[in-house]
Amino acid sequence: MRALKSYACGEWIEGSGKGAVVENAVTGEAIGSVSSEGLDFKKMLDYARQVGGPALRGLTFPRRAELIKEVAGVLKEHLPELYEIAHSYGATKADAWMDIEGGLGTLLVFSGLGRKKLPDGAFLVDGDVEGLSKEGTFVGRHIWVSLEGAAVQINAFNFPAWGMLEKLAPSLLAGMPSVVKPATPTCPLAHRIVEVLTESGVLPDGSLQLICGSVGDLLDHLTCQDVVSFTGSAETGEVIKGHPNVIRTSVRVNIEADSMNAAILGPDCAPGSRTFDLFVREVAHEMTQKAGQKCTAIRRVLVAESQAQSVIDALRGRLEKVVVGDPSAEGVTMGPLVGRAQVDTAREGLAALAREANIVFGDPDGFEVVGADREKGAFFPPLLLHCKNPKDGDAVHRVEVFGPVATVMGYGDSEDAILLARLGGGSLAASVFSEDEEFVRKLTFGMAPFHGRLLVMNEAASKESTRHGTAMPQMVHGGPGRAGGGE
Ligand code: NAP
Repeated sequence: MRALKSYACGEWIEGSGKGAVVENAVTGEAIGSVSSEGLDFKKMLDYARQVGGPALRGLTFPRRAELIKEVAGVLKEHLPELYEIAHSYGATKADAWMDIEGGLGTLLVFSGLGRKKLPDGAFLVDGDVEGLSKEGTFVGRHIWVSLEGAAVQINAFNFPAWGMLEKLAPSLLAGMPSVVKPATPTCPLAHRIVEVLTESGVLPDGSLQLICGSVGDLLDHLTCQDVVSFTGSAETGEVIKGHPNVIRTSVRVNIEADSMNAAILGPDCAPGSRTFDLFVREVAHEMTQKAGQKCTAIRRVLVAESQAQSVIDALRGRLEKVVVGDPSAEGVTMGPLVGRAQVDTAREGLAALAREANIVFGDPDGFEVVGADREKGAFFPPLLLHCKNPKDGDAVHRVEVFGPVATVMGYGDSEDAILLARLGGGSLAASVFSEDEEFVRKLTFGMAPFHGRLLVMNEAASKESTRHGTAMPQMVHGGPGRAGGGE
């Protein structure tokens, strides 16, 4: 078992103390330990401000965009080993592709946006000159300049590559140095990415630092020039937003938290229709991709009451085909959760849902695992629930089971569907599947204020769609309320 070091002030530093253990999700073996004890967090922030910041601000937008492309190029050379690390936290090849190559694609999109949409300079002009005087001798104009602090990026465990790269790219474009804190269960991948980038020398000194382990007293040393971009659970987001120094010094905080994303099937889509099938395929895919460990995954399946049974039957048909096990074993289509602690949390969440809904597919205590020991790995089977009285429900709209779990709920009419969707209290993503434009119009305006992204799906759009759960870098990702209120 090796200790994963942090990269601070241009050096790899091993934390003192025993640290937290990182386990292989498939075998349960300890594969690493992380500790940030002894790191000087104030010094790291100062290093970012004094070394990385000036170096990045000295580059024009086109040069920063090129730099992002170079980062993608360097990482591309290391794909096989990055995929191998992803296997250790239970990702199938397709899951790892989404995280790793999705991350590289995101870098390239940001690089393109920087090249095409930003000027050949290092600041932005925003809007027209505003006349502030009768004779026009006194005018006003808004400009955007880089902040002179650090971009502190605290990331969730489910996307150790994409989650880091989707923040690194805009920070580089903004001329801000990054201090990255990956989540402990999957930090070996983020650690290797930073190692590869530092070995390549592609980034200016001080523009990327890494904390493996806890953030210690880092938040105490933030100033109004720093930014915190947090991705993770709503609870941790609240702790960060409520940190006394963050409040006192008005540190900019962007929160991307969890949500109870819904997918809604229009009453026009009869069983057997193409759109009905698309809907069922999408729900099953969202439940099982990355074993349901996606912030955008569909948790609530809203269908007309008369169609609930047909949808449940069709979903059963798909979920029965899911093979749980070691992602490297033949035929396995879904890996484990990232750790046994996550299995315990998922079980607790399931128990809360089961007080309001019946399990109609799957058994948390009786399921097969291929190519691995069920007791040692962090395995959790696909589970479908049916809530008969969703308007009276609480947990079914509130408890995010971060795993392959979704609940089917019946609605009466379009107003009812909107009301149920809104009970999520603000979500990252929702989908409406329908060929009925009037239904889609009502749902769009009824749901938009409560959602970051609304995907409208019909037969025509399905051919080229990037689907429900994919955050596209060209579009806003984030959502109101419970989803964190960030972008
Ligand atoms: P988490 O437990 O909230 O942890 C998120 C990050 O915060 C980790 O890096 C964690 O480090 C760190 N952290 C924990 N306590 C902290 C504190 N007091 N101060 C500063 N940092 C702290 O979430 P998670 O379990 O990793 O991720 C799963 C959750 O993320 C799900 O709820 C999911 O919906 C959400 N998510 C949202 C998005 C989005 O874009 N909106 C994307 C992905 C995931 P340690 O791991 O070392 O504790």
